[in-house]
Amino acid sequence: MFRIGFGEDTHKLVLGRRLILGGVEIPFELGLLGHSDADVLIHAIIDALLGACALGDIGNSFPDTLEEFRDISSIMLLERTIELLHCHGFSPVNIDASIIAQRPKLAAHREEMRHRLSAAMAIPIDRISIKFTTPEGLGPEGKLEGMSARAVALVDEQR
Ligand code: MG
Repeated sequence: MFRIGFGEDTHKLVLGRRLILGGVEIPFELGLLGHSDADVLIHAIIDALLGACALGDIGNSFPDTLEEFRDISSIMLLERTIELLHCHGFSPVNIDASIIAQRPKLAAHREEMRHRLSAAMAIPIDRISIKFTTPEGLGPEGKLEGMSARAVALVDEQR
């Protein structure tokens, strides 16, 4: 049986932080603020995967009050999410995600992000879609106050 899930996330852009998206460090003058590496794309994907399985959200799987998750690579959180899915009899089928960001241009990093996510999720790269959209200067993303991401995930329930 197939099940679908949706996830979204937003993080603030600040000076003095690295910008990590899809497990890839992107050269930029601003970075995302958060307890982990604040990889907004992976956080949206994790919520989509957990949502498809009705397993809560990233906040209850990986609380930002726990010291063990400080500055942790979100790729590791994604790997742990996949383990959790497997424990409950689910396996990921495909994901489709969008990053909403005014700058920097991200398209050149798409293949590396897909490669990282494919490895972390243990699914073929052709089942991972990442899209980039610019908000035309509108809203907090358009004013470079933050970045957002949205994702859907399909999972297969082995019952
Ligand atoms: Mg987040």
